[in-house]
Amino acid sequence: MTEPTGQPVTDSGVRLSAAIDQLLLAETRELDRDQSDVRRQLADEQTSYLADMTYLAERIRDGADRADEQTIERARTAIDEVVDRHRSRVTALTTTTARLPSLLDQLHDAVTSANGVGNGSRGPHRSPLNSTAVEVLTDIRRTVVDPDADEPQQLHVALAAWRPADVDAAAEKAERWVIDARAIVSPARWTEAARPCPNCGTRHVFVTEDGQRIRKAAIQVNLTEGYAACIAHSCSAWWDRTRFTLLAAALEHEDVPT
Ligand SMILES: [Zn+2]
Repeated sequence: MTEPTGQPVTDSGVRLSAAIDQLLLAETRELDRDQSDVRRQLADEQTSYLADMTYLAERIRDGADRADEQTIERARTAIDEVVDRHRSRVTALTTTTARLPSLLDQLHDAVTSANGVGNGSRGPHRSPLNSTAVEVLTDIRRTVVDPDADEPQQLHVALAAWRPADVDAAAEKAERWVIDARAIVSPARWTEAARPCPNCGTRHVFVTEDGQRIRKAAIQVNLTEGYAACIAHSCSAWWDRTRFTLLAAALEHEDVPT
């Protein structure tokens, strides 16, 4: 073990526990609610808010007429409360907090759902996510679970109790797990072009995913990251977002019936 004097040791320790937390803790996410669903309730809230504010403004005017400082002060305090209440009501109406399982549980879910019968994932968008999730889980298990333990350890428990000798390497590994897991549970959106690659002329490529040979279009477009690439073996054509128009024009010119 390294002397606890070096700064990197502390940093790695923090990074490691942050990565483990990300894998183990339930996640919450603020989501916008469907506005049509809450429009009437928002209108009601608006009406009652305006009524309250009008009444309190009258109280302040009334207090001023009678030079009654106490009434003015009370009305001002009430206005602050009404504003706070209105804000929290609007927030409650328009957003909702989604409680997601931990990243590790989401990985487990990715494995089981992709294994499901008849999920119709044999199309061109069939993804190798299932096997990737298995790989990540296997790597975590191999790294953190003690194979000589008396009783089989649960992965969550083993990960939480993990005390690696090399904290630097462990932090790097754990951060890699988080990145891989995130890519699996919220994968990039892909689409593909049915036309031949303007660079090499390849139209379809056969790839093996999960042991199955499937046909894919050569031009694959990653909508999340904003790039397109030809996946033919001999071709390295690649287009970033700024060159999409160029690619579209090139594809248009390929006068091949689809
Ligand atoms: Zn190509």
